[in-house]
Amino acid sequence: MANRREFLKSASFMTLGALAASKMSAANGMNGVDGISAATAQAPMAGTNLGFQAYSLGGELLNNPADALKKMKGYGYDQVELAFYGFDDKAGHGQFTSWGGGSNPTSAADFKKMADDAGIKIVSSHMTPTLDRGAKYDKSTETKILDFWKKIIPDHKMFGVEYIVQPSLPTINNLEDAQNVADIFNKVGALLKENGIKFGYHNHSNEFNKVVPGGEAVTPYYQRAFRRPGDTSPEPKTIEEVFIEGTEKQNVLFELDCYWTVMGQQDPLVWINKYKDRIQLLHIKDFIVIGASGAMNFENIFHDFYANGHRNWFVEIEDINSGKQLERAEASAKWLKSKGFVK
Ligand code: MG
Repeated sequence: MANRREFLKSASFMTLGALAASKMSAANGMNGVDGISAATAQAPMAGTNLGFQAYSLGGELLNNPADALKKMKGYGYDQVELAFYGFDDKAGHGQFTSWGGGSNPTSAADFKKMADDAGIKIVSSHMTPTLDRGAKYDKSTETKILDFWKKIIPDHKMFGVEYIVQPSLPTINNLEDAQNVADIFNKVGALLKENGIKFGYHNHSNEFNKVVPGGEAVTPYYQRAFRRPGDTSPEPKTIEEVFIEGTEKQNVLFELDCYWTVMGQQDPLVWINKYKDRIQLLHIKDFIVIGASGAMNFENIFHDFYANGHRNWFVEIEDINSGKQLERAEASAKWLKSKGFVK
């Protein structure tokens, strides 16, 4: 019954939306959301940066970056977190491959110039080291992982990024795997810090699976299945907790994807407030257009994120082959401005 109750709690939190969220949270006795009523009673603070995740635009960006970046600036976006960058070993620099694997890539330097011309600042970039399928983060892969990051640093200095964020979860089956990843994240973060760049990690939903020593990672729905009657061992931690608590604050920050957090049956507000100084970036994401579903509790999310002293977040819009991503980005910007989340 606990599983079903947990699931219903999360599902209802998600669907009732911002207006009902504070009452819902109180009624459900959720932790870490004290003060929400006060938050909803006030207008949220407005940020000054309107950022977007480049992934959101798919081919509409990659097939004509100069035009798409200018359009985004026209909608009010003034900063971007990159996606689609790949290092070309033959060329010795990075590039953005045209959509569908066409033969007309945009070089890293050309992309930077297009962003400058459009008035869009490149503040962050999503990058993930490529390993052999199923390979784990451990002593045998550590050098390869660090070499990957060393290779992409020069282009990212040229972009002028403040952050580089890894968006993909390495292979993790148990607690030891998660701790090994955290150890390597610490080293990656130290390396990037030496180069003036902050390293972060971005979650999907699997980071809210729990891990046990030597066991198998389990999904939230089944998270209590392996706790047999009489089991008095400590409650296992989620992968996200192992990452946050197993990395040094000065080396690794966290970018919370609010939508995927809800998909992981978690309340983004709980995480934003439990790890105030570690969650320094957000992905503002909804089912499609930001705000259209009414399901995401953006008012309180923005309020608490700004109250914690952070400023950078990125709109992310799925369904990237729709051919409508630019118009969806425009509608999202309009909604965010209309709600006072950005000036
Ligand atoms: Mg995201």
